[in-house]
Amino acid sequence: MKGQMTMYLDSGRSGILILLMALGMTQGDSSKTPPGPRVTCTCQGPTCQLPICQGIWCTVVLVREEGNHLQEYRGCGSINPEVCRGQPTEVFHHYCCSSSFCNSNVSLKLEATQTPEYPEADGQLPLILGPVLALLALVVLGTLGLWHVRRRQEKHRSLLSELGESSLILKASEQGDSMLGDLLDSDCTTGSGSGLPFLVQRTVARQVALMECVGKGRYGEVWRGLWHGESVAVKIFSSRDEQSWFRETEIYNTVLLRHDNILGFIASDMTSRNSSTQLWLITHYHEHGSLYDFLQRQTLEPQLALRLAVSAACGLAHLHVEIFGTQGKPAIAHRDLKSRNVLVKSNLQCCIADLGLAVMHSQGSDYLDIGNNPRVGTKRYMAPEVLDEKIRTDCFESYKWTDIWAFGLVLWEIVRRTIVNGIVEDYRPPFYDVVPNDPSFEDMKKVVCVDQQTPTIPNRLAADPVLSGLAQMMRECWYPNPSARLTALRIKKTIQKLSNNLEKPKVIH
Ligand code: ADP
Ligand code: MG
Repeated sequence: MKGQMTMYLDSGRSGILILLMALGMTQGDSSKTPPGPRVTCTCQGPTCQLPICQGIWCTVVLVREEGNHLQEYRGCGSINPEVCRGQPTEVFHHYCCSSSFCNSNVSLKLEATQTPEYPEADGQLPLILGPVLALLALVVLGTLGLWHVRRRQEKHRSLLSELGESSLILKASEQGDSMLGDLLDSDCTTGSGSGLPFLVQRTVARQVALMECVGKGRYGEVWRGLWHGESVAVKIFSSRDEQSWFRETEIYNTVLLRHDNILGFIASDMTSRNSSTQLWLITHYHEHGSLYDFLQRQTLEPQLALRLAVSAACGLAHLHVEIFGTQGKPAIAHRDLKSRNVLVKSNLQCCIADLGLAVMHSQGSDYLDIGNNPRVGTKRYMAPEVLDEKIRTDCFESYKWTDIWAFGLVLWEIVRRTIVNGIVEDYRPPFYDVVPNDPSFEDMKKVVCVDQQTPTIPNRLAADPVLSGLAQMMRECWYPNPSARLTALRIKKTIQKLSNNLEKPKVIH
């Protein structure tokens, strides 16, 4: 049984109630969640897998630990609705409220001696049966209580050992060159996900000093921060984009996503400052910024264009593929691929960022996890089937096909900036010549669905065997029939082949 259950044991003379929480404050029981608006809440307690959870309401529960130590736990309530009917309700030990993060700043106090109320008994039989039943109940509850205390002890022990190991690693790596590198490479990660244990994530996050704002996106700001002398990127989400932060945190912490061409995750943190909630996502910092930024400044030799393209394709192929086994990962579709969501690393390889809208799929369970984000992708990069709303939203492959459409547009942005025979074009976003700035859904639909336009491929590419290969690939990303488009793996292999051709010295007879 999952859910919240609070049991009372009257501990005789002291009259103090021992509150035992049985398997409460869990998150991830969405299968049992009744439909309705969901809120995001702070999750603090041994059963939390993330520092946040989602449910129908947020809760705070006061629990008496061993040694009479009172402990507040925070979490989400999604079943057992009678507990929080008429919310927000407040009883001495259990608080419920129904807006996001409303449980962050609440503090519960245990009033003096409190005894549970029993309904008054009528007649003689209850008088006799009463003490017997009470005794029986005490024995049962006592046994349950003991069992639960043991369980909690075990959980606490494993939590403490996890923390102990982490802080050891934190100290040990202080002598190394890159504390971050050491920390992330160590066995200290959570095992299932790409992240560090949550308490370490929180510790890291709270040691970051914000230095300068390096970017403003649709949903928040990105700062360069310093952690023990190393630059990190801190994405500060606006509260209206809480779902993107939640989704990205969830994916990084449950899926093993360490890959050279996927933005490296360091920590996620949520803090309450001056009664507002701050949502942070800390990742590796890349001083070249996004591919969009990079292409504004740089023209590319074909070799560099291919390097950027193949590395981005490797990142996308890794996202899209399902890997089986304990070190595996579900297939992931990005759903907001664009040059602003691809970053350029110092080795001039790309990495894919912003998983706030991603969907996941596992073949074995045929489980499609779409998340709970009202955000939609960027209109300029939307595939025709998204614009005319014919996409099969229940089919995972459909989402991968929309990524491929967008990937073709990113390739087009790259090739325009590639020098062929001394010629190069200015940076322009896809469809710059046919839609206004910040195009509407209708603008895009007219161009992409009604007129069936695709971006113009520069003529000069035809003169170069390698770049004409890229041009052909773009066309195959833009087939109106989504299932006819190339796969990320095919794109990766084709660009790799094109790169090999470029690197081979030409034999002149
Ligand atoms: P949003 O998702 O809100 O649109 P972005 O992820 O696009 O925000 O980030 C905004 C900008 O911040 C990017 O275009 C890029 O210039 C910069 N940026 C984002 N992440 C990083 C990072 N890890 N390192 C360096 N710059 C970054
Ligand atoms: Mg973004």
